[in-house]
Amino acid sequence: MYAEFRIKTGKKQEIVDITNYVKEIVRKSKVEEGLCVIYVPHATAAVIINENYDPSICDDILNALEKLIPKDAGYKHDRIDDNAHAHIKSGILGPSQSIPIKNGELQLGTWQGIALADFDGPRERRVIVQIFD
Ligand code: ZN
Repeated sequence: MYAEFRIKTGKKQEIVDITNYVKEIVRKSKVEEGLCVIYVPHATAAVIINENYDPSICDDILNALEKLIPKDAGYKHDRIDDNAHAHIKSGILGPSQSIPIKNGELQLGTWQGIALADFDGPRERRVIVQIFD
């Protein structure tokens, strides 16, 4: 089953929890056992699975990535559209995640959630969910 939804981000760099959107799609699919793939068709955004209880972890992730891959480091691509850091960050994190489904539920750990990471916002981002049974 294929599904898609859109998320409007509000900041230049932001991590948005999308767990409930994905859970709702899994519920509607009525798949009891299978695999859920969450994918963003964008070159400056990523899908991550991480803690979604304490929101400050999102700031910590963004800050840590900023230290590793600072915005203005003389990248060649910045001559084109000034967002090389966003391509590098999203490239490292990756555009998709896969989560097993058992008894009709995503097998996320207690502290795990699914999030969209946007490194070149604010924008409207597409999130594609494909469920295999
Ligand atoms: Zn670019």
